[in-house]
Amino acid sequence: MDRQTTRETPSEQWQAFRGSPTGTDLECKGWRQEAAFRLLNNNLDPEVAERPEDLVVYGGTGRAARSWDAYDAIVEELRQLENDETLLVQSGKPVGRFRTHEQAPRVLIANSNLVGKWDNWEQFHELEAKGLIMYGQMTAGSWAYIGTQGIIQGTYETLAELARQQYQGDLRGRIVVTGGLGGMGGAQPLAVTMNNGVCIAAEVDESRIDRRIETGYCMDKTENLDEAIERAKEAAESGEPYSVGVHTNAADMLEAMLDRDFIPDVVTDQTSAHDELEGYYPSGYTVAEADALRNENPEQYVEHSLDTMERHVDAILGLQEKGAIAFEYGNNIRGQVNEHRRKASKSDDRNPFDFPGFVPAYIRPLFCQGKGPFRWVALSGNPEDIHTTDEAVLELFPEKEHLHRWITLAQDQVSFQGLPSRVCWLGYQTDDEGLTERAQFALCINELVAKGEIDAPIVVTRDHLDAGSVASPHRETEAMRDGSDAIADWPILNALLNCAAGADIVSVHDGGGVGIGNAVHANNHVVLDGTDRARETAKRVFTTDPGMGIIRHADAGYETALKEATRSNVHVPMQQQNRE
Ligand code: NAD
Repeated sequence: MDRQTTRETPSEQWQAFRGSPTGTDLECKGWRQEAAFRLLNNNLDPEVAERPEDLVVYGGTGRAARSWDAYDAIVEELRQLENDETLLVQSGKPVGRFRTHEQAPRVLIANSNLVGKWDNWEQFHELEAKGLIMYGQMTAGSWAYIGTQGIIQGTYETLAELARQQYQGDLRGRIVVTGGLGGMGGAQPLAVTMNNGVCIAAEVDESRIDRRIETGYCMDKTENLDEAIERAKEAAESGEPYSVGVHTNAADMLEAMLDRDFIPDVVTDQTSAHDELEGYYPSGYTVAEADALRNENPEQYVEHSLDTMERHVDAILGLQEKGAIAFEYGNNIRGQVNEHRRKASKSDDRNPFDFPGFVPAYIRPLFCQGKGPFRWVALSGNPEDIHTTDEAVLELFPEKEHLHRWITLAQDQVSFQGLPSRVCWLGYQTDDEGLTERAQFALCINELVAKGEIDAPIVVTRDHLDAGSVASPHRETEAMRDGSDAIADWPILNALLNCAAGADIVSVHDGGGVGIGNAVHANNHVVLDGTDRARETAKRVFTTDPGMGIIRHADAGYETALKEATRSNVHVPMQQQNRE
């Protein structure tokens, strides 16, 4: 395998920015272009990204631009982009600019997409080595990443739902064991302690543990597993929230727990197992040794990496057998082991899929109501703008206790990274005027911008992981009621519809979260600049976007989605057939 390295010298422009510009002076010809410009740079802020000097934002090798030349070119294109033009970005490189019209998206992005038969890592790496494609993950290549603060509520909601199902709504006194403290995985310790529980997280790269401690996501670290278990047990017994990063390989740690007969209440994992070459670390190597092996002998690296993953999944199954609640946390570790290690051996009765993914286990009921991660970013860079919007969302939805608890916890415990941002899960449910929850809040923000109560426009975006925007049979669409798990028409319709509705940036990617060939997904951004145009765009996009979640799940026959469609007046043709 011929491996390309993208490590060129970082662009001088990036060195000068090292994060998003802030304030009210524009570099571009309008706020919608400026939003794209600032978000791209925010993605590559050293406070936000995991390896910005390599253009890597998070999730293994999820990049914001294909190369430093491409980054410079995107920045220049955005500066030149007119208010009636649309820029096209193909796998992190600008490839065209067309006159469209004012209501059309300003930027359209397609990342990592391959034709079905060629849709695998091998082909991807060949094309990547030729400089023709890049891995966009979910929010890296669509410039929607806002650091670990972006995923924190999703992780919190997942654990809160687990607690509701298993432990009367609270993780107090419970020990959750996991792996991976990277860009997304780093949210786990804080999400556990926000639910009052105790977290032990394995991480091979000590600098990642340090980063989570510095940013308040993790409390403690140790090299010694016995020490970690001891402290965790003490905290659990006294009902205190506590988290510790253990500097070790996750597979080794879980096996050692089994050897000691230490069975946690919950076991999961967020190492970058979706990518056996550039994400997951094999056992028996330090990070530096493994990085050297990857460069010298990638084939051998992959074999060791998959061997460790097999042991890792076996250990999760072993802990599950002894009573731990096990679930996969969206990194396709079960799929990897199933595909590369188990398929050949039919006699093996241990099935990686014996533990569920987090979506069918905890998130799908929310998706059926069009609920998903609504995020907003203050382009001014002023934290006060987010505090103003926090107050606004609490006032707008006084009856939502869960949302009030979340915003209060987030204000108290989640530090801003890069541009100040917030996330809260909102759904479709319409009010008397037919406005969805997401639209009501977007309009409220737009009004605050119009009145000058917020310094500069707010951009609203979301994770690709949302109700109607992903096809991912090992994650968001695992075990769909009608078996439609692998049908990718839905995310494509989502992107097309949001273009029609006039979102400001729209993107479609392959592979994010679970690896090339395993998922197709889309997202969008809407810039709330206080204008009437923004108000009308927000009304449309925050109806069409969560509405896709309703119709996707109604079509699959989920009763909750069908009821929500009736309640909120979403037109679903052929409803009766969907129920059968
Ligand atoms: P990342 O690459 O930033 O971090 C992964 C971390 O895992 C790194 O710090 C790495 O050192 C560590 N690691 C790798 N192999 C290890 C091993 N064997 N033992 C211990 N540590 C190991 O990735 P990320 O952004 O944190 O994402 C992690 C995974 O979760 C990815 O597969 C990603 O696609 C997936 N993901 C899940 C969700 C979700 O909502 N569940 C969302 C986004 C991403």
